[in-house]
Amino acid sequence: MKIWLDGGLQHIEAARVSVLDHGLTVGDGVFETVKAVEGRPFALTRHLDRLARSARGLGLPEPDLDEARRACGAVLEANPMPFGRLRITYTGGVSPLGSERGDHGPTLVVALGEAHRRPDSTAVVTVPWTRNERGALTGLKTTSYAENVVALARAREQGASEALFANTVGQLCEGTGSNVFVVLDGEIHTPPVDSGCLAGITRALTVEWTGARETELPLDVLDRADEVFLTSTLRDIQSVHRVDARELPGAPGPVTVKAMRIFDERAGNDLDP
Ligand code: PLP
Repeated sequence: MKIWLDGGLQHIEAARVSVLDHGLTVGDGVFETVKAVEGRPFALTRHLDRLARSARGLGLPEPDLDEARRACGAVLEANPMPFGRLRITYTGGVSPLGSERGDHGPTLVVALGEAHRRPDSTAVVTVPWTRNERGALTGLKTTSYAENVVALARAREQGASEALFANTVGQLCEGTGSNVFVVLDGEIHTPPVDSGCLAGITRALTVEWTGARETELPLDVLDRADEVFLTSTLRDIQSVHRVDARELPGAPGPVTVKAMRIFDERAGNDLDP
């Protein structure tokens, strides 16, 4: 396996990032996960734009998106696989302990792992912790993901593959690594970005392609929604057949099936939508 680091390809066993990298010591970094089908990245321009937006939000130096694009191409070419996940990580770089972000320049790493197709439907749980819709990091895809790790572990304990958060005012927000959609009276709704959720790329494409509406929703909409589904880079659109103790028999329901079909058709036609 070859990865991109310090401006070129390196064997993963030989590649080294400093133990004083600010991304490692304090989570001062941003990242993207990009799906790659037969060596071709999906929606790479949108992912790179979001990487730059997240970096700006953290006050990191502007990333060199041309290098990031070249790095993705080089890593994909060096490691052929049918279905992969590129991980682009961009951090504050080396900083002596106890100091603020250093001036050694940022670190850019692009790595690739195998990805797996997700089942058509899954179980989710709600968790008692909240997303902060007005935090300094709200809407940024930073490497500070420990809260998501904890919530996902809670979901796994309960036989689910995703945990859903409300925000601090009790509105439905998002999952640990996905956005959430509900179907009410035949119409598709998803929480607005103001709810504190990440502006998911799959979410944006789903809204664009299905006409889903962005609506503030209380968490308990999950008790009465006719259908529920998740979106993310690696899930695409994934139907939900259980929310906590509530079963949604027949998932994926008809509206979700139609959304999945539209998504597959549109996404298949355009690798950089
Ligand atoms: N919300 C969070 C917190 C995420 O980490 C992700 C995925 O990375 C998403 C939503 C879904 O975003 P995307 O569709 O861009 O993968």
